Amino acid sequence: MRRLAADPVGRFAPSPTGPLHFGSIVAAVGSYLSARHGGGRWLLRIEDVDVPRSVPGAADGILRTLERFGFEWDGPVVWQSARTPAYDEAFARLRANGQVFGCACTRKEMADSMLARDGTRRYPGTCRTGLPPGRAARAWRLRVEPGVVAFDDAVQGHVEEDLAADVGDFVLLRADGLFAYQLAVVVDDAEAGVTEVVRGADLLDSTARQIVLQRLLGYPTPAYAHLPVASNAAGEKLSKQTLARAVESADPAGVLVDALDFLGQGPPPGLAGSGLAAVWAWARQNWAMARVPHRRVVPAPRYG
Ligand code: GLU
Repeated sequence: MRRLAADPVGRFAPSPTGPLHFGSIVAAVGSYLSARHGGGRWLLRIEDVDVPRSVPGAADGILRTLERFGFEWDGPVVWQSARTPAYDEAFARLRANGQVFGCACTRKEMADSMLARDGTRRYPGTCRTGLPPGRAARAWRLRVEPGVVAFDDAVQGHVEEDLAADVGDFVLLRADGLFAYQLAVVVDDAEAGVTEVVRGADLLDSTARQIVLQRLLGYPTPAYAHLPVASNAAGEKLSKQTLARAVESADPAGVLVDALDFLGQGPPPGLAGSGLAAVWAWARQNWAMARVPHRRVVPAPRYG
């Protein structure tokens, strides 16, 4: 299994679509401790590239909660909404190399095509060789070459994805004029010098797309660690949609200890009662990625 970098630069990259829930705290804790345990830096980026999905006030709430929990990030917070010129530049490079094509297909037209692994539709390749007569480009897609993309995840082990078969040519510039998450995250991580991406396993299916983009743009590929995602007792993923209990007003030391327990770190009994600083001191010293359960979903019924 590939080790995480010796002098790590990690990051936490929440989307401001609602308050932090237990699953987001788990991703924050895992990425923070992995970076800090290795004596590295931890960056914070607000992923508000998807403006229509961003909820007013959510980003401020997230920052306040992280502060209350005692997270300390390095450097200024990066806001994706301010980074369009960087995405433009990367997109222009791909386009100049012939790796991007305009696509006229509407969602409705693609409704009959195969379902991709993450539930989105696999692109059937309709506009790959040129736009149909009389049609204009709505979105811009990356031309995905055949071949398996493989990586060694520090938690999930060896992962392979046949991107052309599973996803197909994916969108980089959306019909509403916004850059897609896949492009934004790759440009942001590379420019910030991120060496390790520690995040929830719900994003495992995005990683192959991001690796392909890194290669085409000449960026290094960071190490990956995809943490288990919290579910309720019924096995359903906790998310803002399922109204998972927000942690905004909860006792931070207690939630942190629950997150450490969820991540298999074995916090000693009574740790929560010794206060936030003591929890962090213990966690920093004792963090071990090898103890994180090698599963994609782990129940956290208290928070469901
Ligand atoms: N913004 C994504 C989310 O909140 C995380 C992206 C990432 O860590 O790469 O789910």
